[in-house]
Amino acid sequence: MGRDIGPDCRLCRREGEKLFLKGTRCYSHKCAVARREYAPGQHGLKKGKLSNFGVQLREKQKIKRIYGVLETQFRNYFLKATATKGVTGHILLQFLERRLDTLLFNCGFAKSRTDGRQIVSHNHVSVNGRRVNIASFLVKPNDVVEIKTDNKSLATIKGNVELTKDRKVPGWVEVDSSNLKIKIVRLPLREDVTYTVNEQLVVELYSR
Ligand code: SF4
Repeated sequence: MGRDIGPDCRLCRREGEKLFLKGTRCYSHKCAVARREYAPGQHGLKKGKLSNFGVQLREKQKIKRIYGVLETQFRNYFLKATATKGVTGHILLQFLERRLDTLLFNCGFAKSRTDGRQIVSHNHVSVNGRRVNIASFLVKPNDVVEIKTDNKSLATIKGNVELTKDRKVPGWVEVDSSNLKIKIVRLPLREDVTYTVNEQLVVELYSR
């Protein structure tokens, strides 16, 4: 599956807020959003009022960029969410939170979602005892996710755990950091999403 390979910080500056795409750098004084509080490009300093469509579009782009998914995949999540019982916006976020790369990031095993994607695609993860190398794999209740890898990668992942040990772990999982194991207790709820996002705007945009 493809992904946006442009500069990450540019995406944050475009949205005007930190999307935490680059691991430890995002928490340092080097963060581009903190240093340059305007959008990138020739017209970045111009500030106009956005139309309703513009506001909805920006929110959709922001959520896509936070989770590192491209338009087709994001729209597919939306279509699946509309076909699922429940509040469409909440189900959409639930799908995104259940991705394996996001899970590794949220549990502190990866420095960023991109890092989480790499850990998965390099075959370092097993779900219920079976190797999974697809970052978009969706976990479900009672799944057990484990890191199974060689010593060198293990040291890197343990280093990530140490670096992110102050990060709050989501309430829908149980994390065993010493054994690098995650148990899925339940599906994520809306309140488990820590980002300030308005998913209803995405529903309105796609319902036009
Ligand atoms: Fe975004 Fe992180 Fe770059 Fe800051 S350092 S602009 S939060 S990707």
